[in-house]
Amino acid sequence: MERSLHDRDRVGVQDSVLLDNYRSEDAFLGNLKKRFKENIIYTYIGHVLVSVNPYKDLPIYGPKTIKEYRNTHIIENPPHVYAITEAAYNSLIEESQDQCILISGESGSGKTEASKKVLEYIAAVTDHRGQVQPVKEKLLQCNPVLEAFGNAKTTRNDNSSRFGKYMDIEFNSLGDPVGGNILNYLLEKSRVVGQNPGERNFHIFYQLLEGGEPELMEALHLTRKIDYYNYISKAGKDSKVGADGLNDARHLKEVCNAMTILGLSAREQGEILAIVASVLHLGNIDVSEQQGVAVLDNFAHIFAAAELLGCPEDVLRSALTHRTILARGDTVTSPLDRETAVYARDALAKAVYARLFSWLVQRFNKSLQPAARSKTARNHLMGILDIYGFEIFRHNSFEQFCINYCNEKLQQVFIKLTLQSEQEEYLKEGIEWEPVEYFDNNVIINLIEQKHKGIISLLDEECLRPGDTSDLTFLEKISEQLNQHEHFISHKKADNKTKKIMSREEFVLVHYAGEVTYDVNGFLDKNNDLLYRDLREMMSSTTNNIARVLFPKSELQSKKRPETAISQFKNSLNQLMSILMSKEPSYIRCIKPNDFKQAGVFSDEIVGHQVKYLGLMENLRVRRAGFAYRRQFEQFLQRYKSLCPKTWPSYKGPAKDGVRVLIQHLGYQPDEFRIGETKIFIRHPQTLFEIEDAFQARK
Ligand code: ADP
Ligand code: MG
Repeated sequence: MERSLHDRDRVGVQDSVLLDNYRSEDAFLGNLKKRFKENIIYTYIGHVLVSVNPYKDLPIYGPKTIKEYRNTHIIENPPHVYAITEAAYNSLIEESQDQCILISGESGSGKTEASKKVLEYIAAVTDHRGQVQPVKEKLLQCNPVLEAFGNAKTTRNDNSSRFGKYMDIEFNSLGDPVGGNILNYLLEKSRVVGQNPGERNFHIFYQLLEGGEPELMEALHLTRKIDYYNYISKAGKDSKVGADGLNDARHLKEVCNAMTILGLSAREQGEILAIVASVLHLGNIDVSEQQGVAVLDNFAHIFAAAELLGCPEDVLRSALTHRTILARGDTVTSPLDRETAVYARDALAKAVYARLFSWLVQRFNKSLQPAARSKTARNHLMGILDIYGFEIFRHNSFEQFCINYCNEKLQQVFIKLTLQSEQEEYLKEGIEWEPVEYFDNNVIINLIEQKHKGIISLLDEECLRPGDTSDLTFLEKISEQLNQHEHFISHKKADNKTKKIMSREEFVLVHYAGEVTYDVNGFLDKNNDLLYRDLREMMSSTTNNIARVLFPKSELQSKKRPETAISQFKNSLNQLMSILMSKEPSYIRCIKPNDFKQAGVFSDEIVGHQVKYLGLMENLRVRRAGFAYRRQFEQFLQRYKSLCPKTWPSYKGPAKDGVRVLIQHLGYQPDEFRIGETKIFIRHPQTLFEIEDAFQARK
């Protein structure tokens, strides 16, 4: 346990604003590292919590620790995710302020674990009268199901969330949770039909094959042989069950149990698993070609998929091999060639799975609706955002473009809200605001989302334009129109000016976190997200009740073109931004210490990159721009009163006066501190350390 604010030699400083050289990235990293080596994974930047994934279980969670943090102020204990949660919860109750906890970081950095700790804390400290037990139970049970369907083993994380999640918990006026609501973002559905070497498909497929009871397996026409199913066999031997502690068989029981607690009937659960099984069967439908026309082989799987979804076999067969186009009132049906039929089959599998995932979220939301809302007292919300961090891979595609765009938006909210809350605090305390310079990433967001001129508009335009369009015509277009933009580098500009080596299928965006090279291949296709009409029509008449509602008839009748993937994402992001902006934010910035999922290894280089992507140095600079340290008069006086005979053992007057007396005794220079309305502000950490040392010496 840390003894003081700056047990510096051993465990560094608790709060990075107390670093002497706060502009130095080395100093910042050195501090994190020193702490990490002592198994201290949490550090603050002001009120932002930085968390470094220990990759091992530390004895720092659970009921005993929760008690230590309960009803304490953030400064009273060492940094912890519980401290952040306590502060947010306290503000929710005491000030009736809606809260949100924003958790960011790259894959494997500990975001999802942190979000679970937040939930665990909330569950532990609320509802001692036992009145909302079922709600709490439900809130906790969403995770195992969403993880089964939305998480997968990747090279970066054995339990990687392949979707973004925002979860609101609703509290009544007593501060007890009474309901919740979840929003999901961009499930990585390409994973359904293929994975990179060493990675797996979503957990649920393996859980079903390993854990399904014999009768269930028979009903779903499944065998236990993972290697047999094309959509999941590619992952290779090393990713098989047991090898890394993934106990798939046991998890299926947990998932079904959780679904039951969430109110899903046995019939619903059966239909859900039938859909999961149908995806495996779809993957095993082979397509060959005779005289340029696709022919389906492997009758058993066509039969099984048709039965599980609840449609006639010949309808499925025909929908997978034909395409009907409506043209001026006429319908024209033509057969597909092999390649297109494979494309259609995979598109169906992806659509079915992704829509099932969203359906689950909606179904949970229904179950999490508060029983009744009070008419007189407004309920309050605490949101938890667990969403993918900035991604810069060797090969970046449409998905990275979406994710990085999302992170630009989040960075903007972060900067706005941090600066805003600094400014507000100064104002509230009656202290003159000293302007801070910072990089406003609005210019990049504009480049991406400006109407008519931004990348999103240009991409949509290319997707909707009739004629001979392709990823390359899209690239040509943005290269032409955005060539002058300082955050856009086309291969043309690269050749002439920067001498950057780029292929003719790439463009570069200069994000706030650095340059990212995007490969345009697949942009149009992924953005169009096309599922042929024949398949949608077939799905909308299936007898599997869930499968059928995933593809509503209204979608077929609508004359409007379905929204493109990026436009949908843009809209849902903007909605998320307004949700976040209306709440009081807390931040958890997660960092992974190495690329090997290994305990005890802290790579300066890898951590350094993340510090950059997360904008932590900028954050620190903003926080340190004026006064490094601030405390409420009462707390400050309480801690340091022993340093002055006039305030020891207690000061009779108001705490504010006591602080003045104490400061005078200590001989602070006028520019070194400010006395606000409720707090004292101290400019340099050194000043604080001196009294902190004196305080420690006296203890
Ligand atoms: P992310 O959601 O950021 O991709 P996760 O939260 O899934 O990352 O964490 C990845 C893995 O790292 C977890 O499965 C767990 O093994 C380990 N881990 C993360 N946070 C902690 C923690 N606080 N203590 C111990 N292990 C952790
Ligand atoms: Mg995660």
